Amino acid sequence: MSTPDYIASIGLEVHVQLKTDSKMFCGCPVRFGEPPNTLTCPTCLGLPGALPVLNGGAIERTILTGALLGCSTPEVVKWDRKNYFYPDMPKNYQISQYDLPLCLDGGVPLYELAYPKDAQKDIVNPGKTVRLTRIHLEEDVAKSTHHSSYTTIDFNRAGTPLMEIVSEPDIDSPEEAVAYLNSLRQILVYSGVSDADMEKGQMRCDVNISVRPASQDELGTKIELKNLNSVSSVRRSIQYEIGRQIEEIEAGNKIVQATWRWNDEVGQTEIMRTKEDAHDYRYFPDPDLLPVRTSEMVASVQEDLPELPHEKVERFEKDYEITHYDASVLAAEQALADYYEKAAADASSPKKVANWVINNLLAVLNEKSISIEECEVAPEKVGALVNLVESGQVSNNQAKDVFAELFESPDKSPAAIAKEKGFEPADSSEVEAFIDEAIAANPGPAGEVAEGNDKAANFLTGQVMKLSRGKANPKQVTEMILKKLQS
Ligand code: ZN
Ligand code: MN
Repeated sequence: MSTPDYIASIGLEVHVQLKTDSKMFCGCPVRFGEPPNTLTCPTCLGLPGALPVLNGGAIERTILTGALLGCSTPEVVKWDRKNYFYPDMPKNYQISQYDLPLCLDGGVPLYELAYPKDAQKDIVNPGKTVRLTRIHLEEDVAKSTHHSSYTTIDFNRAGTPLMEIVSEPDIDSPEEAVAYLNSLRQILVYSGVSDADMEKGQMRCDVNISVRPASQDELGTKIELKNLNSVSSVRRSIQYEIGRQIEEIEAGNKIVQATWRWNDEVGQTEIMRTKEDAHDYRYFPDPDLLPVRTSEMVASVQEDLPELPHEKVERFEKDYEITHYDASVLAAEQALADYYEKAAADASSPKKVANWVINNLLAVLNEKSISIEECEVAPEKVGALVNLVESGQVSNNQAKDVFAELFESPDKSPAAIAKEKGFEPADSSEVEAFIDEAIAANPGPAGEVAEGNDKAANFLTGQVMKLSRGKANPKQVTEMILKKLQS
């Protein structure tokens, strides 16, 4: 959203809870929505003398994330204490990684469909990748809930493995920030690393924003916005903050480096603390944890990398000969992509199956507000139904009826439902007679078809469909009309 006179530079720090069975440094289970303080032990409560034990699964998932995003992993990584006093972290330090994190460099590709809907038509930097600085692994803190005169703390969340993904200030606009978060989320969900649900706090975001005059090379002073917990608040807060900083600069004021917060209700940013009272975390290596050699884990992760959304899109375009857009819609969600592939497996036209899934199936799911995972109609049945249409057994409209019935009786086959409904193709001599009747009754359009106007045949096809009460196959009828009048 940089104006011609100003350039905005935005970097994101995203905290993502990993999908692991147990916590980062103890055996307590990781579960959401349990009664407060029931999933705890001396280690995640931060009691004196309790020792941390590393969760290998969390390390592996972080290395996997790095591998998918093109990061490198140092030979040896280590664990550091980040010291600060806070009620949600009673041992008064967070175990994190300072100078040897699990992943360095790499980048997040911005997918077209990850941009806000209203910005997809006019993407300023198509195919852009936002560079990453690092990804490190740490422990989540407890969850504080502030009441009117007191605060409660739930330690169920304390010690959940938390991956912090830090980007370079490569993002130019609020729309790119949205695309970054959605693309990243897609990749994390795809690879099973995290559910990354922002509403559940599984993905949280801090934003760094600076603005500078277009004539200036070095970045302006940055403002950090803390703890944004929805994609829409990320977009609106960046939009607001860019405008605010430009106004300050225009008024001749200096931007002072500080931490701000976004007030979603009022729709504006508010100052939290300036650099003077910034924390000095006094990082030092955690004496309770040994450094980790990574080469074996990196090798085993590399051996079995899951397919990424954009790789799937390319494969779908090639293997099923569908458009880039259709492939992107289908590949946006792993479960939907799997459904489509099963539906298309034995279908005569994978392209028609794609249309059917995108236009009909998604509409019904949306209407019933159920997810693709909850869809009771097996993908093979959608493939079989499309085959019935393609072979002329049922018309497109009849297929819609069959499809609706499939949701009522998901155990029946499309062919059986079509038969029950009396959707059998009219026999060809009957159709032949209807065509003769339609031509005789409509000499005008018939003449136009005879003179080579193929489109005029549509009208005659419509008449034949009426005469056959929808039983004829419109595609075949049109072909027969053209043959009759043009040869
Ligand atoms: Zn514990
Ligand atoms: Mn952090």
